[in-house]
Amino acid sequence: MSDNIEQKKQKIKERAKLYYQNNKERIKEYKKIWNQNNKEKNKEQSERWQQNNKEKVKEWRKLYYQINKEKFKERTKLWQQNNKEKASESQKRWTQKNIEKIREKARERTKLWQQNNKEKEKENKKKYWILNGERINQEKREERKNNPEKVRELGRKRYYKNHDQNKEYYRNYFRNAYREKLSNYYFNKKIKVLSHYSKNNIKCMLCDEDRIYALVIDHINGGGCKHAKVVGSIYSWLIKNNYPSGYQVLCQNHNKEKARINNEYNSKTKTSEKQKELDDVKWSVFSVYSNSNIPYCKSCNETNFDYLELDHINGDGYKQKNDVGHRQGGDNFYRKLKRLGYPNKDKYQVLCSNCNLVKRKENNEFHRPKI
Ligand SMILES: [Zn+2]
Ligand SMILES: [Zn+2]
Repeated sequence: MSDNIEQKKQKIKERAKLYYQNNKERIKEYKKIWNQNNKEKNKEQSERWQQNNKEKVKEWRKLYYQINKEKFKERTKLWQQNNKEKASESQKRWTQKNIEKIREKARERTKLWQQNNKEKEKENKKKYWILNGERINQEKREERKNNPEKVRELGRKRYYKNHDQNKEYYRNYFRNAYREKLSNYYFNKKIKVLSHYSKNNIKCMLCDEDRIYALVIDHINGGGCKHAKVVGSIYSWLIKNNYPSGYQVLCQNHNKEKARINNEYNSKTKTSEKQKELDDVKWSVFSVYSNSNIPYCKSCNETNFDYLELDHINGDGYKQKNDVGHRQGGDNFYRKLKRLGYPNKDKYQVLCSNCNLVKRKENNEFHRPKI
């Protein structure tokens, strides 16, 4: 049954096609007339259809545009040439309407270009700044001057936006600035004092060491530690008291050696046997960490055993103090290292007192952050 119907349908279709082909012109003419007479109706119908098939319409339009791109472009160009005023106006209107979009796109483009042309970008910035820096600075200065309230408001906002971070930053900033100022202050005093006591040729009395950081003022008759505790800064005190006699410039190596010979500290309480045992421990620790049968300073190759010290390479001795439980260089600390089989070979090195002082000063290792 259904096959029959299908066949009939097919037949009717074919007949209609044939009829259309034979009467093409006439049908076209007829359609034209009908369309002209039913313009409103047609329009309505097509509008209704378009509204119900928005997606389809969009797609078709896109397709149609892509197929006829060149034609469209040419037509637009021609129109723009013939209607210059109108074109520029409509262009303006369009720009105003889409200003944010345009800017966003431009920003993206610039970013991409900058990423791909870093060197050029640097150069451009430099050039731009040379040509416009003074003007921009002037403008900004003027703007700030004319809007003090706004500037304050902005600053406040910026500060509170990252409040905790800023607090930390400013605290560190001022702390470091203060430290630097202070260290410059004492450094200048130290130079003054050293050059007085070494008669303008700053160096150790006993050797050629002339690194400022490695040099110290020595009390010729001893008692330096006690004196330092009383007066605070020995350099300030010497200047204030107009450079009294009884003082000399020594490097830290010789200063320590002299102290040791004169029994100025520590060993008063130690028997010579105990001292010998400690020296043995120290010797084995130092030879392991300087990787040599005879320990030596890694920086200047000094081998005098009395001058040598164990240094925390990263300058974080204050941290390790908590881990190991003893102060850096303490006798018990050497014993502990030996007992533990000389661990952390990459963390410690052997330096002489001079080089150690210089390293610690240069890396600012004296100023330990609070932990
Ligand atoms: Zn010396
Ligand atoms: Zn050294």
